[in-house]
Amino acid sequence: MSEAKPGGNEADPRSHLGLRPVVNVSGTMTSLGASTVGAQVIEAVTPILSQFVEIDDLQRKASAAIARHCGAEAGCVTACASSGITLAIAGTMTGADFARIERLPDTTGMKNEVVIQLGHLVNYGAPIDQAIRLSGAKVVPVGTATRAEAYQLAGAITANTAAALYVVSHHAVNYGQIPLGDFIRECKAKNVPVIVDGAAEYDLKGFMAAGADIAVHSAHKFLGGLTAGIVAGRRDLVRAAYLQNYGIGRGMKVGKEGIVGAMAALAAWDKRDHKAAHAEQDGHLRLWQESLANMPGIAATIEPDPTGNPVNRLKVQVDPAKAGVAAWDLADALSAGDPPVIVRDDEIDLGYFQLDPTCLHPGEEKIVAQRLLAECQRARAKPAAKPSSPADRQKRRLARLSRWPD
Ligand SMILES: *Cc1c(COP(=O)(O)O)cnc(C)c1O
Repeated sequence: MSEAKPGGNEADPRSHLGLRPVVNVSGTMTSLGASTVGAQVIEAVTPILSQFVEIDDLQRKASAAIARHCGAEAGCVTACASSGITLAIAGTMTGADFARIERLPDTTGMKNEVVIQLGHLVNYGAPIDQAIRLSGAKVVPVGTATRAEAYQLAGAITANTAAALYVVSHHAVNYGQIPLGDFIRECKAKNVPVIVDGAAEYDLKGFMAAGADIAVHSAHKFLGGLTAGIVAGRRDLVRAAYLQNYGIGRGMKVGKEGIVGAMAALAAWDKRDHKAAHAEQDGHLRLWQESLANMPGIAATIEPDPTGNPVNRLKVQVDPAKAGVAAWDLADALSAGDPPVIVRDDEIDLGYFQLDPTCLHPGEEKIVAQRLLAECQRARAKPAAKPSSPADRQKRRLARLSRWPD
């Protein structure tokens, strides 16, 4: 039946399930299964699956581990970062009051406003304002899409403000926003706790060090844990977030395996040879850049991560007139081929995609280079008669989703 291929072989469960052996140069995307899980984490998680544990005690151990790794007073593991945001915000409204915890999402009698810069109202697969509203809180936007000022933040804070949310992400508008330090200072002066969504940020201690009250991370992005979220911060606020498990958090619960997985991922993170990993990843970028070097209409440049994570990516800018294909159609061709190569396409409307080197299995970088070259050559040989538009592509995506499960 299927032939053994690099990056996919007889032991590859995807072939048994009838799933495509995707090669991920997009990043740790939920739509692609988030992260691959490293051997150390798998070893830690497997034995707990066949045991009962007292979850509050397991989360107590997780709290100590998170506190240590994040420079925080306490921590807890959640189903994911998105639920971590919801539960942390819920905690700022309820404190440790069980009557209030059970009343949510009805916020009667509680402060219930969450201030957030308009440029931070991102979509990471779902809109972040919904993660706020799920708790029952009300979103109070600060500033305009591309500009927010400290005085606007101060003016938006009222006696009814429960929390302030700050997003550190490539998804957020990365200019014209209030710097984190100023944001924290303004909120502290008014006694408003600051929650930082740093789901995909490598620096686990920086937000605490900057004075944030809560920092939220994904366990299944760079950390390589099972799907889970990490909430770190002030003891009373982490406690209040954790106690939501006896309320709205029940519908977002993390299992024992996710908790142990997050703890193991934190431990493994400390032991990883980060320097060697980055050197290898940069080697992949140079390989792809060289493969595309003489391709008309393609400009490939190595770019640093926009929020300062220690990751570089290859930006592949496509000039349709010369390349014979538009960036979004090239991305689709790469995804439709064999094996499917899934590129990072958040900014594809601007005529480029990115290649993220962090999620590859050994040898897959060569497959990516071959597929890039083959698709570019194919487009040159047979230029697209009628270019599509990124809006058409998005419509096709939504139409496909609307038919699920077909
Ligand atoms: C990925 C991401 C999230 C959601 O993280 P999950 O753990 O997948 O829920 C939230 N915020 C930002 C900025 C992200 O990048």
